[in-house]
Amino acid sequence: MSNHQKEINSFMDLVTAKSPHEPEFLQAVKEVAETIIPYMEEHVKYKKYNILERMCEPERAITFRVPWIDDKGNYRINRGFRIQMNSAIGPYKGGLRFHPSVNLSILKFLAFEQVFKNGLTTLPLGGGKGGSDFDPKGKSEREIMMFCQSFMTELRKHIGASVDVPAGDIGVGGKEIGYLFGQYKRITGEYRGVLTGKGIEYGGSLVRTEATGYGVVYFSKEVLNRNNDELKGKICLVSGSGNVAQYTVEKLLDFDAKAITLSDSGGFIYDPEGIDREKLEFVKELKNKRRGRMSEYVEKYPSAEYHAGKTPWGVKADFAYPCATQNELNLEDAKELVKNGAKGVFEGANMPTTPDAVEYFREKKILYSPGKASNAGGVATSGLEMAQNSQRLHWSRDEVDNKLKQIMTQIHDNCVRHGKESDGYIDYVKGANIAGFVKVGDAMLDQGHV
Ligand code: NDP
Repeated sequence: MSNHQKEINSFMDLVTAKSPHEPEFLQAVKEVAETIIPYMEEHVKYKKYNILERMCEPERAITFRVPWIDDKGNYRINRGFRIQMNSAIGPYKGGLRFHPSVNLSILKFLAFEQVFKNGLTTLPLGGGKGGSDFDPKGKSEREIMMFCQSFMTELRKHIGASVDVPAGDIGVGGKEIGYLFGQYKRITGEYRGVLTGKGIEYGGSLVRTEATGYGVVYFSKEVLNRNNDELKGKICLVSGSGNVAQYTVEKLLDFDAKAITLSDSGGFIYDPEGIDREKLEFVKELKNKRRGRMSEYVEKYPSAEYHAGKTPWGVKADFAYPCATQNELNLEDAKELVKNGAKGVFEGANMPTTPDAVEYFREKKILYSPGKASNAGGVATSGLEMAQNSQRLHWSRDEVDNKLKQIMTQIHDNCVRHGKESDGYIDYVKGANIAGFVKVGDAMLDQGHV
């Protein structure tokens, strides 16, 4: 066993001893440790001051009770969380997730990833994440509003425009952000940019809704440019059917690529003719307004197929964009993709690829970008929303979109700088981890042992 591997193992033993029942968090830390520990051997100041270990310990992890009453008059309780992971380079920033699977492990993994991602954006954003095990599926509008109000009644004690600025994530879209913002304003009496992803009418930024999906495609375009390839005419697999998936498909259409799949937790649809703009509008209406299921797509477009309980990775395509959730693409899927000739995998979701599948892509020299780099356009545009709120100004669509493009290009270039291997292959995992680590680590070194 190499010395690096021994160091990685003993570091992981330490983190595991402190958080033994947090598999997703440990998975995210291990992936970072594998690239950062060898880097620290050559850059000893980070090792001397224990920067990586400090980055694994949240500055603060808050859990709280969220009481609400359902439409039948039942008294209900959910658990609320906010993980304030790292504020070295700016106020904590990261989304809120409402999903029954939410627990401390998932939110700590997301907050940890967020620290690196936000470090990559070039903006002054610390890292955090929060949410609740509340399941919005099947709930009435009144129930969702009541839940959001109760959640914010507690959360507002811990957030602020210069303290911690949450946004949306799975299960928290524009509607929920509106209810959360309304309650914050009602309790505090202050009109402040304390949340991002707000409606355009009340302080939101143009392009924020589209930013994560658009950014993923801008990033993949940079990767392809570097490899003398392009999106035009390419067949793409997209998973998920929420915010990130929808705007990934929209931007792929802008670049004349053809997305042929979408999915939800019930299964995936395969549309060999491609998901065009009219079909995409149908999906937006189905998922955002009617909160429907992807199985309804084939009722409307019978030439498409629905595969219940399956993911799209067995379909032949040039590129894959996993945009649903963590660990949705495993080693078997990775092998299937490579066997079918896929040349690139660009993550829209956070940690959608299992570690053995990531390793397989690297081994096969497949172009692969981790979510913390390729989906950073969402939080970057949240940073632009904060800047507009502070200025009390509203930038045009083009201005925000151009800034988003520039940021994705800068993130890409930074990954290349730190991830270039001797044979010219770009290890985007290594590049993203080191670039994010150096930015946050240097700020921590300057600020002392706090
Ligand atoms: P949405 O809630 O809008 O959509 C989530 C989608 O993923 C839905 O189609 C949902 O299906 C599907 N999904 C959720 N859980 C599972 C599961 N266990 N198995 C299969 N499908 C599942 O969320 P977003 O689009 O905002 O987020 C998607 C991913 O992107 C997440 O990993 C999120 O953390 C990440 N992300 C989001 C950003 C943003 O700006 N929104 C920014 C950066 C990253 P169903 O309808 O059945 O629940």
